[in-house]
Parts: sequence; structure tokens; C-alpha cells
Amino acid sequence: MEIIDSHTHWGPSITLGTEVTTEELLHQAELSGVERIVIFPFPSTAIDDERINDKVLELGKKNGKFIPYYYIPEELRPIPVEKNFYGGKWHWVRGVQDCSSNYQVLDDPHLDLFIEASEAIDLPIVFEEELAFTEAFVKRTKGLKIIIPHLGMLGGNPFDFLKTFKQRENVYFDTALSSPETIMRSIGTIGKERILFGSDIPFGTMKRELEKILSLPIGDDEKECILSKNLTRLFILR
Ligand SMILES: [Zn+2]
Repeated sequence: MEIIDSHTHWGPSITLGTEVTTEELLHQAELSGVERIVIFPFPSTAIDDERINDKVLELGKKNGKFIPYYYIPEELRPIPVEKNFYGGKWHWVRGVQDCSSNYQVLDDPHLDLFIEASEAIDLPIVFEEELAFTEAFVKRTKGLKIIIPHLGMLGGNPFDFLKTFKQRENVYFDTALSSPETIMRSIGTIGKERILFGSDIPFGTMKRELEKILSLPIGDDEKECILSKNLTRLFILR
């Protein structure tokens, strides 16, 4: 079965003062048997200079193992449809990263235009905010596909996230840095179709995060959904 890592960071990070190189990602992929890797820039780097998005895109063109996502800038520009991005990354827009949402964004007159354009583009967006923000955002969408990283761990309690979006077919979750118990409970709550494997390199390692999925007490069919099928279903084949 094909294995795709749906969540890694690539390039330099201004706040961390480090860089995740192409070689490092390829090395980790080889060690763990991962065939394709979703990449997006670090927030601090993209906010400082969004041209990092073009570098991510370039890498995807050069090496088919990489699946480039567009870092959505604070001005809320949708994924540029003329470029070959496969998805987007929405990260605590104008809020405190990994910590608190800025609810004024919900009153931004550009938000409805952003949602409308993103629904037409129809690519998935890795979306991280507090639960209440996420809920208010999702209520304004119709079919926009969003992927909540870490099963919602950084925006609240994963079980509250799962309960809130149980009936929302377009809301997906990734498993990065979650415990096997939480992943099992998430499969029990929303089924196997909306859960994606992710490592969150450099905060997790591909091998360890993958081993977590491979050792879950579930069938190969369910594992295949989580390891690649659910994600490839989200992409428009170009
Ligand atoms: Zn991440």
C-alpha cells in the first residue's frame, strides 16, 4: 500500500532558527517507507516573506515525491489556482500561533470572499485554530475540505473536536503527535475515512509517527485509508 505523509514542514524557520532540508525529508521517507510527502513552509518564514511558497512549489515540480501546499497569507489570499499546489495551510491567522485565535478575522469582510474562492478551487486546507473559531469558520462553509492537524490537540480537546465535526463530511483530521489511544477513539467516533497520517516533521519523526499507525489494532483496509487513500481522494487530479 502507498504511504503518504500528509503533514511536514520544509525549509527555514525564523522562530526556531533551524531548517528542514529536502535531504532530511527524503532520508526520513526512505527509512520509513513513505512514498510521498506533503510539504508546507514554516509559519514565521511565510509570514515574513511569502515567496517561500514558490520555493515549496518548485521543489514539488522538481521531485514528484513532494506534494506542495500553499501557506495562506494573513491577507487571506486563496490558493493561486494557476499554480500547481495540492492544498493550503491556514495557521492561527493573525492570532498567537499554536495558542490563541484572533476572532476579529471572522469579521473581516474578505473572509467570505476567501471561503467562496476556496470552495471553487476545491483543494484541502490544513486548518489550525481554537475549536470555537474552527466551528464558526466551518459553519460559514458549504463543502470546503479542511484537515484539522493533531486531531485538534493544539486548539482544544480532540474529543470535543471530533464530537463537534462528527456529521461534517468535509472535515478531516491528521494524526500527527497524537497518542494511539486518541487515534483509536477518533476512528471509533468518525470512522476511518476522514483520518490522515501525518508526522509534523520536525516536531515528530516519520518513522515513529508511522509505526504508531501500523501498530494500531485495525485491519489493513483501515490502515490503507489513513496512510494514503483518504488524502489522494481529496486532490483534484491534474
Ligand atoms: Zn505542523
